[in-house]
Amino acid sequence: MITIKDLHKSYKMGKNSLHVLKGINLEIADGEFVAIMGASGSGKSTLLNIIGMLDTHDAGVYDLDGVRIENLTERKAAIYRNKFLGFIFQSYNLINFKNVVENVALPLYYQKINRKKRNEIAMSYLERVGLGPWSRHLPNELSGGQKQRVAIARALAAQPKLLLADEPTGALDSVTSREIMKMIQEINDEGKTILMVTHEDEIAHMCKRIVRLRDGMIIEDTKINQVRA
Ligand code: ADP
Ligand code: MG
Repeated sequence: MITIKDLHKSYKMGKNSLHVLKGINLEIADGEFVAIMGASGSGKSTLLNIIGMLDTHDAGVYDLDGVRIENLTERKAAIYRNKFLGFIFQSYNLINFKNVVENVALPLYYQKINRKKRNEIAMSYLERVGLGPWSRHLPNELSGGQKQRVAIARALAAQPKLLLADEPTGALDSVTSREIMKMIQEINDEGKTILMVTHEDEIAHMCKRIVRLRDGMIIEDTKINQVRA
């Protein structure tokens, strides 16, 4: 699914440059469930954003599902993002003036699926995350856990090959975190490849492999026995 070789990334700030990723090597196979851990500032989000084609790298190789990512135009990148990737963020990133079902249907809009079909698909994913009755509500009327379930439904609706999550439980209490992790584990049980950034040990152990970053380098990469949420 993913091959990354000697990947580097620096942020340029005026005359200075901050070297954030310093030669990352990473292979992720179909169906894996990987936690990316590390202290704040170690480069976790930067790596996830590059993998998610939300940012670009300076050097090295990144292949996603057999496609070499470096030379893509923004237009091509957008197409691959829509086709390959689903995102879940700590802050949910829902559109507040659109209702729940419209939020979930949005990624399908870019796949040229007609409105009726979009809504049908969106409703089926909302039902799957237990939010069918909330479809006409606005995000602000929902709890944090419910908002994250909407975000999960939205991420799944476009049937991505890879699900990327940046601290998906970071804003949730421990009971709600467990519910969300249970849902994410079930999605992986069905075969979806998942890459999740977290700084919480307990959450990381609910994945199947832990990759640890320090100062932009991988210092540990281990398969683990998954703890069920
Ligand atoms: P993490 O997610 O592990 O906390 P990040 O990948 O967000 O770390 O950030 C790694 C380093 O890069 C930090 O020092 C951060 O301040 C810096 N950084 C992140 N994004 C930017 C940016 N857009 N411009 C400049 N520096 C950035
Ligand atoms: Mg981060």
